Amino acid sequence: MSSDAWVSGVIRSAEDEKYLENGRDFVDEALIGSELERNSNPDPARICDIIDKSLALTRLDPSETAALLNCRDEGLWQRMYEAGLKVKQSVYGRRIVFFAPLYVSNYCVNNCEYCGFRSSNRETQRSSLTDEQLREEILALIRKGHKRLVMVYGEHPRSGADFIAHTIRLAYSVKEGGGEIRRVNVNAAPLCVDDYRKLKEVGIGTYQVFQETYHPATYRKLHPADTVKGDMRWRLYALHRAQEAGIDDVAIGALFGLYDYRFEVMALLLHTMSLEKYFGGVGPHTISFPRLEPALNTPYTENPAHRVSDEQFRKLVTVLRLSVPYTGLILTARESAEIRREVIPVGVTQIDAGSNIGIGGYSSGTIKGEKQQFMLSDPRSLDEVVGELVDMGMITSFCTADYRCGRTGGCFMGFSKSGKIQGFCMPNAVLTFAEYLLDYASPATREKGWVLLEKELESLPVDGPREIVAGYLERIKAGERDLYL
Ligand code: SAM
Ligand code: SF4
Repeated sequence: MSSDAWVSGVIRSAEDEKYLENGRDFVDEALIGSELERNSNPDPARICDIIDKSLALTRLDPSETAALLNCRDEGLWQRMYEAGLKVKQSVYGRRIVFFAPLYVSNYCVNNCEYCGFRSSNRETQRSSLTDEQLREEILALIRKGHKRLVMVYGEHPRSGADFIAHTIRLAYSVKEGGGEIRRVNVNAAPLCVDDYRKLKEVGIGTYQVFQETYHPATYRKLHPADTVKGDMRWRLYALHRAQEAGIDDVAIGALFGLYDYRFEVMALLLHTMSLEKYFGGVGPHTISFPRLEPALNTPYTENPAHRVSDEQFRKLVTVLRLSVPYTGLILTARESAEIRREVIPVGVTQIDAGSNIGIGGYSSGTIKGEKQQFMLSDPRSLDEVVGELVDMGMITSFCTADYRCGRTGGCFMGFSKSGKIQGFCMPNAVLTFAEYLLDYASPATREKGWVLLEKELESLPVDGPREIVAGYLERIKAGERDLYL
């Protein structure tokens, strides 16, 4: 089939109609504008009430999120930063989940103005991993200690649902010693319901689609109308369709720098509410908030219209944390080490480290600028970042037990909303951290990591997980792997 014929068959608008409200999308530009306007000068007492609501682990309403975004009192922001950490700790504990991005194919039929992979960028070298190359990449990641991947693909006939399903299956099949990938998440273009079912069948973890911008006029400007991605509605309901197909962990995101950050945060909340409405109260599993990075031969990234400052960035992550207390927040190595140090404590739950976003970059050991989508700002190794988190009092988790025990989607939300996830997640974080320390860590990280691990063990409830985890730790020291609650 020619590329043009393939492109014209991708979008099935009828699949989205049932999710419209009187023919309208969930991103209501007028509502966002009026909430930001009505709450432009919030009363300090109201901000305190909203913080309390969030500390009670209740999702905020749009008018409350708008009030937080408009707060100008630095003393109250300080309270919000502290509340963000408390909310995160009561839902997720003192742990950070690690993943590795793995770029599989950079062929793309779209022409997003900000992306190095856009079809009109002749300086990008196109490639797609062969099975053998993919195996090599996975082995390289396993040897560093990774257990969770986000596999990334451009939108192209070469990387349709069958190819994605094939690569997921292959990723799960690669094993070496005690090392293996236990969860494969995907970041790829929106699919139709039948195609999502193919990915469900091969055991996909989370499906991520970032809306880039929720602002219709900006979306139209950056995504040419004659491309698949030019159809904003097909992307808006990508994750409704994924849920409909049975993929119950879905992830949303916005690319910050394309439009006003307050608008995007409000829209992420509306997206969350729409997913909750149609899927039994289950919102997104995670939210991502990448900031625009420079990309090869991509002038748009040099001077974006709505660049988000570091201070605004920390604030927007805090507001997201407080607005959706039970949703994971992902901070990537696009951000510098310094920014990550500042932003992780306001409520981030997942990060990557030692990442290489060039096609074939992990096994070759070099970053290939001409094959890379954009530039990363935190080049530190996995071991360095794990070590720094130990210094910050945080356990690194490679846990994938929830997903493999079926604690996903609504079930996961049920657990996390009531704070019970700690009964599973902290113990499993400790167990996967022990595996990492024993098998992959440098001597310095192993030594200080084990001290923290034992402290964490002491804080587990005496009559329950503590005894079981202590027993499992002995078995892990004796060579067993993949033990979880
Ligand atoms: N091609 C698929 C799509 O666009 O949905 C998925 C993969 S795309 C490679 C992953 C994400 O990278 C995009 O959704 C976008 O948010 C982000 N991205 C694109 N260009 C970027 C840039 N210059 N800086 C930072 N992130 C960027
Ligand atoms: Fe292609 Fe995704 Fe890049 Fe757009 S953001 S050009 S769809 S890879």
